[in-house]
Amino acid sequence: MRTATRVVPAPGSLAAGTSAIPEGSEIELDFRLEAVMEGVLVTGTAEARYEGECARCLDPVSRSFEGSYQELFRYPEEDAYGRTEDVPDEEDGEEDYYLEGDLLDLEQVVRDATVLALPLSPLCRDDCPGLCVECGVKLAEAGADHGHGERVDPRWEALRKLGGLSGDA
Ligand SMILES: [Zn+2]
Ligand SMILES: [Zn+2]
Repeated sequence: MRTATRVVPAPGSLAAGTSAIPEGSEIELDFRLEAVMEGVLVTGTAEARYEGECARCLDPVSRSFEGSYQELFRYPEEDAYGRTEDVPDEEDGEEDYYLEGDLLDLEQVVRDATVLALPLSPLCRDDCPGLCVECGVKLAEAGADHGHGERVDPRWEALRKLGGLSGDA
């Protein structure tokens, strides 16, 4: 069994929802390699920083996060002529990974581990109050007593319509 840590640059297009890992930023991989019957089992974590937009107030959000993964890299299966082929496993819909010689390509694993762990709707803080639905001001800055007065009593609203003052005639 071998363990290792490696820092790799983020490949492009690691994104989910409104958050993304900027291309070229550092991803720290911790992984453990374990030889098993069918191939090599890779278990570990990927730590990276994402950038996004708060889903409530649209402020920029940048935070580190961690995704974990466990993937089996299979020995290539040889057919009767000694050829190897990447055959997608149709039973569980998941792609199988294969060893290429002694090498394993971790990029796809990193991609899966990080994209699945990215928050689809990141928040600048857990209790972000968002924006005022009436005027769009940031409620965190406007304060708890921000408001636009009482709503018009629906009975007055009805009277105004009767009087032809609704304006939509
Ligand atoms: Zn926010
Ligand atoms: Zn307002």
